Amino acid sequence: MRKISIHFHFCIVATLLFPFSCFAQNENIPAGKAYARCIVDTLASPYMGGRGYIDNGNKRAADYLTAQFKNLGLLPFDTSYRQKFSYPVNTYPTAYIVSVNGDVTEPGADYIIIPSTPTTKGNYPVVKLDRTILTDSTKLKGFFAHDYSQTFLLMDDSGATDKKEKELWQSIEVSPAEGGSNPFKARGIIVLCDKLTEETSQTVGNYALINVLRKSPFRYAKSISIDVRNKLIKSFPTQNIIGYIKGNIQPDSFIVFTAHYDHLGKMGSIYFPGANDNASGVAMLLNLAKYYSQHKDSLRYSIAFMAFSGEEIALLGSKYYTENPLFPLSHIRFLVNMDIMGTGDEGITVVNGTIYKSAFDDLVDINNEDHLLPLIKPRGETANSDHYFFYKNHVPSIFIYTMGGIKAYHDIYDRRETLPLTKFDEVFKLLRQFTSDINQRKF
Ligand SMILES: [Zn+2]
Repeated sequence: MRKISIHFHFCIVATLLFPFSCFAQNENIPAGKAYARCIVDTLASPYMGGRGYIDNGNKRAADYLTAQFKNLGLLPFDTSYRQKFSYPVNTYPTAYIVSVNGDVTEPGADYIIIPSTPTTKGNYPVVKLDRTILTDSTKLKGFFAHDYSQTFLLMDDSGATDKKEKELWQSIEVSPAEGGSNPFKARGIIVLCDKLTEETSQTVGNYALINVLRKSPFRYAKSISIDVRNKLIKSFPTQNIIGYIKGNIQPDSFIVFTAHYDHLGKMGSIYFPGANDNASGVAMLLNLAKYYSQHKDSLRYSIAFMAFSGEEIALLGSKYYTENPLFPLSHIRFLVNMDIMGTGDEGITVVNGTIYKSAFDDLVDINNEDHLLPLIKPRGETANSDHYFFYKNHVPSIFIYTMGGIKAYHDIYDRRETLPLTKFDEVFKLLRQFTSDINQRKF
């Protein structure tokens, strides 16, 4: 079930006609869910191509954010909001075709190409892996002795019971290019799974790796016809977008909000919209920027807004920033990273909540007083988003993500049309009150 506002319709139509129409409207939209909707509709639109590597998607998103920062009156640290850096990434600029037993299958819906896959073209037999090899040493020896260099292996990695079995399965699945140790050569591996979850890769492996839905035609594959072409970009140019609002009493001290704007991009003919991950977090970032650009007088400390790129490829944007900070990291009083802000039916999780106890308790107190969210759950240290390298550099930092609602994640279904933004206004209010508490504290 989904509720669509008139504004939502307008934004969809407007972004199709002209990608920044929402931007033109933004000045008149007050901070809150309607403004967030406009941002998500723009960033998750086909025009932005999943904010990745094909059709200038990442650059288009950066241009949009730059225009937003400027419009909100944020100050650049240098002459520009852009902090440039680059990294290698494997891409698939042209449409790929995969058919099994003569039937064409649908990319994104039936299968995904795992992006360590090299250019692979031809017709190959498919052999189903018998998992009893794992418990029969003679069979296992035979398996490793066999030459699969012109064969695709079909395997089901679910239900691996003991640790040894899991490890062995993984050693077969993970290519040496990705740090795996599989000693055999296969042309490709097809892995049956319950959910398709796409990734990124900085390297090219030596065989094709395809994740397929268990219920897809791949289940009965006897032969595969494949035409996939990769292009390794050795140095993909990208940028973090960073601006700030100057504080009135201690402007050299900063409260920092971060959210990554990059996503998985386009692969062949499909794109990964990344509405929840993380157009929603950028929407929260811009809402906070809008709110505080209109409430500057109340600020003791400066507030910096950092939209990172390269998060989906090993947190490279925030890592680069912590190695090349625009002001000393020790001047950050507190940092809040926002990634996946699009639901909230079941509340939020606060990563590092068990470490920064007083900050966590403050969030809980605000929530108890204002009845905003059903649950605020603490979690320990994790390296799963852009707070991580700040935390490792002793910056007090938490990472907030929403829980419940839609489950689309790193797939073609993480779309703007189905992103509910259920508790967006509540989380926004919680963060404003939390910021106000930090702003009143003397460091
Ligand atoms: Zn993310």
